[in-house]
Amino acid sequence: MTQAEIQDLGAQLMAGEHLLEEQESAVDIESFVRSLPKAELHLHLEGAVAAPTAIELARKHGLSAHDYEDASKLFDFPDLGAFLQAYDIICNSIVDSDDFHRVTYEMLARCAVNGARYVEFFFSPQAHHGVAYATMLDGIVAAMRDAARDHGVHSRLIPALNRELGPEISMQFLDLVLAHRREEVIGIGLDYNEVGHPPGLYADVYRRARNRGLRVTAHAGENGPSEHVGASLDVLACDRIDHGYHVVDDPALVAACRERGVFFTVCPTTTTYTTTFRDLASPGHAIHRMFDAGLNLVINTDDPALFRTDLNSEYLLVARHMGCTPQQLAGVALNGLRASWLDDTTKRAWISEWSAEINRLLPPAASRPLDSHVPATERRTPGKAAH
Ligand SMILES: [Zn+2]
Repeated sequence: MTQAEIQDLGAQLMAGEHLLEEQESAVDIESFVRSLPKAELHLHLEGAVAAPTAIELARKHGLSAHDYEDASKLFDFPDLGAFLQAYDIICNSIVDSDDFHRVTYEMLARCAVNGARYVEFFFSPQAHHGVAYATMLDGIVAAMRDAARDHGVHSRLIPALNRELGPEISMQFLDLVLAHRREEVIGIGLDYNEVGHPPGLYADVYRRARNRGLRVTAHAGENGPSEHVGASLDVLACDRIDHGYHVVDDPALVAACRERGVFFTVCPTTTTYTTTFRDLASPGHAIHRMFDAGLNLVINTDDPALFRTDLNSEYLLVARHMGCTPQQLAGVALNGLRASWLDDTTKRAWISEWSAEINRLLPPAASRPLDSHVPATERRTPGKAAH
């Protein structure tokens, strides 16, 4: 298999022939999703801390109990603002290196249970007030290595910049990241509330990060306008877009993203909490429209503990509410590798291995080789993300 063929696999699957109905019915969608090898590219460490863990850590550090004792209240939020408050409370409970190790290890173990073989996850250095960045890294990186050894889940780390703190502080953030380079730290992200904090404010810090060999991604078009998606691609030169839902408001941008092969890390459950797209079953839901438009999507959990979800559940939501076939879900799973920041050799090898494994999961009548049955004219050249 040539490199071009391997890179085309995800696009082929997404564009590929649909299974006949009787073939689809032969697939038990739940067991198929459970068995599907998957990647997580949009997960926040702090949003993956289970309530009992946050409560235990808060007690350990003698923090005010009332914020934590009622776990159901802590994880009950009507909008993005309330969600970010809960997120901050959890962040306060993660203080020393052992805490960071524990929450990272528990998160990666849950990813592995959900069939995630590879995880690129965010964490929020600026949300842990008074904690040294090196302390955070020590615990997180050690847990990443332990989880790979114990659960076979490989991972990379993306420090995420809180856009609400403004561009002045962002360069200090990057100074810190650059001063503590570890091989596990692969890029930077941009998150928190987009409204009033457009991507262009961070052009300088993103340019410097790219020049220093870091990959870059940004949350855009979650609760901000389609212009934030465009600016994240054109001004920040992002490799991929996190969320991106409001791209659907601009048909020309949708066409450009399709042409360029931009990858979007979408998070179905998140949309029902923090966006205007709350009905997953509606054909007007942004993710549904992004699928229909032929955009390259990767399905993720975002903040699985806060949103009470996991990766298998997110795939099943898309299968059930948006009518995705097993073949399409397989394409999404392979997109997780295509959109990843793995080195090219590993990426090619894993795409090949996963494709063979997925072929064995599909029913016999449908399991023709994934790389052989889409006419060349339908194949989309994989984009080098945005640029
Ligand atoms: Zn996110």
